[in-house]
Amino acid sequence: MKRKILVVGGVAAGPSAASKAARTSQDVEVTLFEQGDHISYGICELPYYISNAVTNLDKMIIYTPEQLQKEKGVVAKVHHRVERISPVQRKILVRNLETDGVSEYSYDKLILATGTRSKRLGVQGEDGKNVFRVKTLNDGIAIKDFIQQKHPRKAVIIGGGFIGMEMAEAFRALNIETTILHRSHLPMGKLEAETRQMILEELKKHGVNFATVKEIVSFGKDASGEVRNIVTDSGTYAADIVIVAIGFQPNTELAESAGMRLGTMGGIKVDQKQLTNIDNIYAAGDCCEVKNLVDDKPSLLPFATIASKTGRVAGENAAGGNALFKGTVRAVAIRIFDLEVAQVGISSEEAQTSGFDVATEMITDWSRISFMPGSKKLHIIYIIDKRSKRLLGANLIGEEGAALRANTLSAAIRHHLTIDEISQLDLVYTPPYAPLWDPILIAANQAKKRLRELEIK
Ligand SMILES: Cc1cc2nc3c(=O)[nH]c(=O)nc-3n(C[C@H](O)[C@H](O)[C@H](O)COP(=O)(O)OP(=O)(O)OC[C@H]3O[C@@H](n4cnc5c(N)ncnc54)[C@H](O)[C@@H]3O)c2cc1C
Repeated sequence: MKRKILVVGGVAAGPSAASKAARTSQDVEVTLFEQGDHISYGICELPYYISNAVTNLDKMIIYTPEQLQKEKGVVAKVHHRVERISPVQRKILVRNLETDGVSEYSYDKLILATGTRSKRLGVQGEDGKNVFRVKTLNDGIAIKDFIQQKHPRKAVIIGGGFIGMEMAEAFRALNIETTILHRSHLPMGKLEAETRQMILEELKKHGVNFATVKEIVSFGKDASGEVRNIVTDSGTYAADIVIVAIGFQPNTELAESAGMRLGTMGGIKVDQKQLTNIDNIYAAGDCCEVKNLVDDKPSLLPFATIASKTGRVAGENAAGGNALFKGTVRAVAIRIFDLEVAQVGISSEEAQTSGFDVATEMITDWSRISFMPGSKKLHIIYIIDKRSKRLLGANLIGEEGAALRANTLSAAIRHHLTIDEISQLDLVYTPPYAPLWDPILIAANQAKKRLRELEIK
């Protein structure tokens, strides 16, 4: 009889784990449960779907349940919520949300890929009909339908992080007046102050209002159940549509109720094989903590890239393989109107908290030879450990050449390269794409000089 592998969660980590398990061994039968309507879709494209940059919803769905079964040999059951795990009996209790019936399924190996959910503000009126989160495909469809039917003129986005930026761009593309309410006086808290200041200027240049509010007090609803204004500690903001984008928290309740251990950051704790503390149960994706390879600390890094990789490792191991996920370096990029913004590694604040002796260096140079048509200014900030001279993190921001250059620095950080080593990297030069001295090298040389000056002092 074939060994049974069950997977809980169907967006990025779950399908990746299920497909890899089915590919690893002919001797396994893989079933995936997803409580929502869809599996295996691109969440990251949602803001572009809302702005109409992406129009074909079908293209965002990578595998339907039928395709997953036909092409990967995995049975996927949507509208099925896993409600209990009995580790001793190796069984799970599953509710069919269409019939409300419950059934038990036994497993040899179980993989949890339950992901995250959007954080809530916990204020009155938050359930208003025009208040949305941006987390699932259905959220994207609901926002787009609302815009098409109700033609909102004023949008308020609560939260000035990644999703807030992408939604601001989407709303402005639709000519909707947009205000971001954020706790800090600058957006995008994980980036360096200079980068954040440039982002703020870009938002303003594109007509986005940015207001610092310490507290959202309540949402004022009208008789139809729609929110009309948002009351804060520093004024009231009118809104026809509201987006709450204040972050995500890992879905760990199912794991916890079965005795799975969480880590210090609140995600499921796993080893390098993605195995939890309970025999035969793996976990992968945003519900888990990962080891940050810069400071070796557990981190919550909710990115599709990491979810897919950890999913593969869990799937291979559940099917009898021997794969390892050793950890990760944060590597993220975002487009904010005309700007490419990228961050790799840790921030200067995180580096200080982790006990590094931090120096930062910022340079501004050109994405190509300066006089080549299309060349744009590119800013790079390096975060360096003064003791080891290792690069710990970097921000790159400019109209061209930030996102893909960040990949080189991500590899450098992962392999603990020093500033001296980075200054020796062999990088391409050709006028249409890059200058003779790439900005990565210029920043490294500048940082070397600065470290020498600091040593002399
Ligand atoms: C707007 C947006 C843009 C993004 N852009 C990027 C980007 O550009 N680059 C990038 O790398 N990442 C990006 N991300 C992050 C990326 O989408 C996530 O990291 C990824 O989706 C995580 O996948 P996951 O499978 O671990 O979890 P999730 O996507 O959270 O999926 C978990 C699934 O498990 C299901 N589930 C939970 N509990 C149960 C249960 N008990 N029974 C059955 N099903 C259950 C949930 O319904 C959910 O569908 C973006 C995210 C958002 C919201």
